[in-house]
This record gives sequence, C-alpha cells and structure tokens, in this order.
Amino acid sequence: MLTVLDKTPAQLAEAVVARGWPPYRTDQIIDWVYRKGVADPAGMRNLPREITGELQVLTARLAARADSADGTVKLLLEFPDAQAVECVLIPTGDRHTACLSTQAGCGMGCRFCASGLGGLQRNLTAGEILEQMLALRQAVPGRISNVVFMGSGEPLANYEATLEAVRAIVDPGRLGLSARSVTISTVGIPAAIRRLAREGLAVTLAISLHAPNDALRRTLLPSAANTTIAEILAAAKEFFHARKREVTLEYVLLAGVNDSALCADGLAGLAGRLRCNVNLIGYNEVEDMAYRAPTPTGLKAFAQRLTDRGVNVHVRHSRGADTHAACGQLRGSVARSP
Ligand code: SAH
Repeated sequence: MLTVLDKTPAQLAEAVVARGWPPYRTDQIIDWVYRKGVADPAGMRNLPREITGELQVLTARLAARADSADGTVKLLLEFPDAQAVECVLIPTGDRHTACLSTQAGCGMGCRFCASGLGGLQRNLTAGEILEQMLALRQAVPGRISNVVFMGSGEPLANYEATLEAVRAIVDPGRLGLSARSVTISTVGIPAAIRRLAREGLAVTLAISLHAPNDALRRTLLPSAANTTIAEILAAAKEFFHARKREVTLEYVLLAGVNDSALCADGLAGLAGRLRCNVNLIGYNEVEDMAYRAPTPTGLKAFAQRLTDRGVNVHVRHSRGADTHAACGQLRGSVARSP
C-alpha cells in the first residue's frame, strides 16, 4: 500500500515514480486528498484501479462521535494499534475551527487536564495529525478555516511531526490555510518556542500560562518544575520579534485556585511585558477531578480587572459541554464505559 498523508509532496512523487506510474499522478492524488478532501480512493475518478487499489489515506477507525447542540462535533479516532485520539470541529459564525491532537495521551501531567490522566501513550505521526483534518472534513460539510493544536498532547514535545503537519496545512498546494489561522498551543518549552520562531512560519503561538507566578504554576503544571515564567516569556518575545505575530497567553480559571484579584494583577503585570492577548477559559470540569469552574460573575470580574489594567482580553466560551466534547473527555468516557 502507498500511504499518502505521511509523505511530503516530494516523497509522494518518489513513491509514484518508484511504482512505475506516470509522474503527473502525484498531483492528481494530492488534488483528491488535500484539495477535494476525498479520503476514499474509490472516489478518485480520474485514477485507474491499479493506482486507487494501492492508495491508503485514512488509517483510523471512527470509534465514537459526539454531536453537541451548539454544532460542535467531536470524533474519537482509533488507530490500528488501538491508540485513540480526539479531534473536534467547532463552528463559530463563518469560521470552522479544527482542534487537533498531536499525541495519544500526554506526558505533561497538568493536574486539571483529562488528557494527561493515563500519561503519554505515543507521539502521532504527521500523517495521523493530518488525518484528523480529513476525518473532520468528512464528518462536517464546509471548509475548515482555522486550526488549533489544543487536543491531546504537547505539540512542541512532538515537534517534527507537528511541524510537518503544519506545513501541509499551510501549503497553498495542499490544505492551503493561512498560517495566521493556525494556533500552536504549548505548555511552554522555551527551547522549542525559540526553534519555532526560526521556522519562517507565521503561525499563532499560544502559551498555557494558567498562573501568575512560578510557585502556583508548578502546583498546576508539574512539567514546569524546571522552567520559569520569565524564560517562557523571553522565548515568546523572541517569537514575536521573529514572526511579528502577537502571542496568546492562555489562562484557565480554576475557582478558588488562580482566580483571585491578586492573580489578575499578577497576570496583568506579566502580560504588560510583551505584545500579547490573554485568552481566559472557564475550566471545563472533569469527572473525578477536584477543580471547579468559576462562576460567570467571577469570570467576568477577572476579565474586567485585566481590561482595566490595559490587557487585551478574550473570554473563550466552553463549547460542546453538553456532550463529552470538553477537553479529553470523550476518550475518557469511552475508556470507562464497559
Ligand atoms: N499541551 C498543549 C495543548 C493542549 S491543551 C498546552 O498545554 O497548551 C489546550 C489547552 O486546554 C491548554 O491551555 C490546557 O491547559 C487547557 N485545558 C486542559 N484541560 C482543560 C479543562 N478541563 N478545561 C479548560 N481548559 C483545559
């Protein structure tokens, strides 16, 4: 079989020629898979059986699907080795945002996050990351306009595969999204952020800050034990200077933990150090986890305090909460059910 999604156009061209097929077949395959979003080779009408019979686009099985009343669709994809990941399509107005996973499970162990509960299972390949785009496109009609790497896994801990997938997503000859509509969200690995700054890709960088000081941050994000907020922000500044893209600071509000007025003031102080937007996210409660969502009033007051201090704030509303669409929870619910 010739697997398509795990190959760069050059590698695909090589594979096509190696099989003795005419070189123009490469463009036809790319056109069907990436531009038309056709995942079933049988539907690639201008290709002979000899070729379609050899092509493999999707490798995963659709293990579960959850449709939320707000239009959010979440898929659980299971790969042949039984590892499963979630991906989500979030429609907002004329935008269709795909939320992709980069690893099965996650090794970061954030105390409030469902994805890290079973630890890291394995990295996804670039093809497996891209496959989520195709699966979402099959599941929901319409063009995907935005991508956020906010599914399971730490994208910068699976750097090569994530970047390979990003290149396919922004390549005008493949998925053709604009780089600025692609957001890489990271727990904050300074060396990897600096490396990303040198890639020549104007993607949006989002940093999961979640606390205004290292002491509190380390209680929530154990992987931050050997990193300081100062180092992360210095790397983020480097990213801004190289790419001229404002950085996003993500802050999940956990009631009674990081939502005090003092925390807001600390966060405002940090945000003042670089060109950034702050995304406030009300916690999506996870079964068996002790953290709680803030009240709507609490969330509003925290946002207002930041605005009053000159911070550019966006409140991100939780979507798909009526199903298991919130962060990492579909996989968890399937794993738990008999
Ligand atoms: N590993 C990356 C990307 C995946 S998580 C990162 O840490 O950024 C995407 C975002 O969702 C992160 O900011 C993460 O902290 C947050 N998150 C995880 N679980 C959550 C929950 N239950 N409710 C709200 N946000 C959550």
